[in-house]
Amino acid sequence: MFDEELTFLKGVGPSRAAVLKSSGIACCHDLLHFYPRRYLDRSTISPIRSLREDGVEATVVGTVRVQDWVRGRRDRFEIVIVDAVGATLNLTWFNGLPWISNVFEIGDRVAFHGKVQRRGHKILMVHPDFDKLDKHGPSLDTGRILALYRGSSAFQRVGLTSRLFRRIIYNLIKTRGLEIPEILPAWMIEECGLMEGHIALRAIHFPRSKAELERARKRLKFEELFFLQVFLGLKRRLQREKPGNVVSATGDTYRRFLSDVLPFDFTAAQTRALQDIVRDMGSGFRMNRLVQGDVGSGKTVVATAALLLAVDSGYQGAFMAPTEILAEQHFATLSRFLGPLQVNMRLLVGRQRKALRREILADIAAGTAQVVVGTHAVIEDNVVFNKLGLAVVDEQHRFGVMQRARLFKKGERTHVLLMTATPIPRSLALTLYGDLETSIIDELPAGRKTVRTILLFEKLRGEMIVRVRTELSAGRQAYVVYPLISDSDKMDLKDAESGFKALQAEFFEFTVDLLHGQMPTHEKEAVMDRFTSGETDLLVATTVIEVGVDVPNASVMVIEHAERFGLSQLHQLRGRVGRGAAQSWCILMADYRRSKEAIRRLDIIVKTTDGFRISNEDLIIRGAGDFFGTRQSGLPEFKIADIAEDGDIVIRARNAVDMLLNRDPQIRQADHQSVRDYYERFYVSQGEGLVAVG
Ligand code: ADP
Ligand code: MG
Repeated sequence: MFDEELTFLKGVGPSRAAVLKSSGIACCHDLLHFYPRRYLDRSTISPIRSLREDGVEATVVGTVRVQDWVRGRRDRFEIVIVDAVGATLNLTWFNGLPWISNVFEIGDRVAFHGKVQRRGHKILMVHPDFDKLDKHGPSLDTGRILALYRGSSAFQRVGLTSRLFRRIIYNLIKTRGLEIPEILPAWMIEECGLMEGHIALRAIHFPRSKAELERARKRLKFEELFFLQVFLGLKRRLQREKPGNVVSATGDTYRRFLSDVLPFDFTAAQTRALQDIVRDMGSGFRMNRLVQGDVGSGKTVVATAALLLAVDSGYQGAFMAPTEILAEQHFATLSRFLGPLQVNMRLLVGRQRKALRREILADIAAGTAQVVVGTHAVIEDNVVFNKLGLAVVDEQHRFGVMQRARLFKKGERTHVLLMTATPIPRSLALTLYGDLETSIIDELPAGRKTVRTILLFEKLRGEMIVRVRTELSAGRQAYVVYPLISDSDKMDLKDAESGFKALQAEFFEFTVDLLHGQMPTHEKEAVMDRFTSGETDLLVATTVIEVGVDVPNASVMVIEHAERFGLSQLHQLRGRVGRGAAQSWCILMADYRRSKEAIRRLDIIVKTTDGFRISNEDLIIRGAGDFFGTRQSGLPEFKIADIAEDGDIVIRARNAVDMLLNRDPQIRQADHQSVRDYYERFYVSQGEGLVAVG
């Protein structure tokens, strides 16, 4: 039934079918899963008289009283509607929309949805969404909840209005509703307490009550998230079966690193993560693991141990960082650890001189470079490894999907270890990284003191200066971060260059340096070196230092215009301090002019240092789409689910898939045939577009 074409449905001829098809609605299944975008019921309709506030979104229903073109500087089409108590509202469309004059007739009952604008005492909506209602239709008046569908100019052209969608879908369900197949196994519906599929599809289009609509939405969200998890689950299983280099854990440098070189003991969480890695790398199958750990939890040393596992078994290891500054820093850190062990290391970054680069590439190709640290230069095509056993990607969310994919082409059997300091809520992790195994380092090394965070307004700038001076006088170091590099005409913000001058004057008795992204590489390196070695006391910077920079002697982080930064950025910046034994400080300098959201962000960052709590809040404030930049997010587009809101359903869907795959790993049993069929017919192609690494 799902597969049948639309042409034969009442109300759909060849031309409408063609338009629907080009919008991705090709068959009965697609039409039934073309969910309403909004609903109208009496409680969501505002009386026109109640519309007072400018900018508020509202839905109104009224009868078209007047409609005409109004000539002027910009021609516009205007409609006046009147509601049941005689209040009127103007709806306006500006030029360029000739079709609009053919849509309505005087006397039509129409629902409009849009932003209310006040012009003097006139109120109006510009370019509202609309939906023609049945003139005397009982539907609205008896309290029915009415579905509204997405519109488009193509739909409009062939008369595909919400009213028509309702009619077509109504007929389809009335005549064929009982043939709608159940795609989830009976045991799952039972155990998860779900609404049956055919009922949910009827109810999503024609809900009998809000409660019923809610249950239908739950079921359909579950269904959507379930099939995503099926995709990820099958992929994860497939991944586990790919052969990988066999790397044993008993090597010499590995043991000496842990027992002689490391100046501290691993935390329990680090040990657990390392055990996961050791097991994966020795299993004969290819590792595809993500290590999640808050800033400062000590991921680098865990990765270092993993690299030594590879080296001990005669393989090369690669360590990739998102910026040159970080690559440099990791190279320095690793050299300190691996130098005494006589491991051969090379640094490969974008802007090295040709001759040097040739030499490095030759070393990599010959296998004499045992560990290669670098930026994405490492995965360029001309870099050929002799025997790459393990690739580590630090701050992996900073890399694009394509870059990660290229990594996998460097070696069929190469183990991959991804690291991220952006702790994300479990629901999102299950979606974004659902095809990866994960280890979580949820513990900071002993002796760390929580960074104290204070919020200061400009008026109290003096307090910040005093705190910084106290720390510098005690021999410690500080960062001051600005949102902009240089003065901008457009924004009235302090910038790093002028801040640098002012701070140099203020802290004349100390050494002050400047770092930003537009400086040439060698200068950046030199600045970072001076700060790492303690020669510089105060580093003025932009967010180039946001990620990964590790100078344990730094104990103050000042963030200018903190109201301009996002939550995860603030958290990352704060993570640059509190890495040594001293009490550290994070001072947020904020403007009085702040948005509500900024106030909320600053409030959260002052109250907690728990990365998971912060990322949960961030997800709620920003919504899933924005949470990661879209380019790299790899989040699939959902029809009905919303990762930010539906975390509990994600987890239930994942559990259901785990149950399913445990019972029936290939999804081949007779009672799961419907899942398999539906998955192959309607999901696989969608799933392929997913990020899924590897
Ligand atoms: P991140 O997880 O943010 O990448 P790093 O690997 O940079 O953290 O580690 C932060 C700091 O903590 C480094 O200076 C590192 O040497 C130190 N460190 C790591 N593990 C431990 C430990 N178990 N005990 C004490 N210090 C540690
Ligand atoms: Mg790190």
